[in-house]
Amino acid sequence: MVIDTRNDYEVSIGTFAGAINPEMAGFRAFPGWWAQNRDRFQGKRVAMFCTGGIRCEKASNYLLGQGVPEVLHLKGGILNYLEQVPRAQSRWQGECFVFDNRVAVGHGLAPGTHTICHACGRPVGPEGRAHPDHAEGISCPACIGEFTEADRARFAERQRQIRLARARGTAHLAE
Ligand SMILES: [Zn+2]
Repeated sequence: MVIDTRNDYEVSIGTFAGAINPEMAGFRAFPGWWAQNRDRFQGKRVAMFCTGGIRCEKASNYLLGQGVPEVLHLKGGILNYLEQVPRAQSRWQGECFVFDNRVAVGHGLAPGTHTICHACGRPVGPEGRAHPDHAEGISCPACIGEFTEADRARFAERQRQIRLARARGTAHLAE
């Protein structure tokens, strides 16, 4: 059984076929999730993966400490897999969230299609950006109900400032 040890918002834009998503808001939730789900893994071989291979190594050490006899983890993480495994043989589906300006990458580490929602920090794909709940810098379909009117007014003001700064930047470049 294969476990995706990343956060739920990362899993939401891509994962391996058949992987189990513990639906965690953060990695600290992992021991609690394991305590509730360990029976499902009785007598099964467990493999884990994450973006770069660090979190799943921690998670597999945790499971070994919990008495699971054999735990595998994907060396070098998803990024190494996407770089090494040709698309035709790949079991990866979707894009892989990364913690830099690229936001997400695909097979061969090609740039992905996601941007970041600056209200909630989640990745938003082309479908999300076309959704009526999406307003740049203010909301995306995932966080539309999470913020108060006061928050949204603050985000709108911040977005206005960004637009002004961009316009000034463009004017500056044109001089
Ligand atoms: Zn959002």
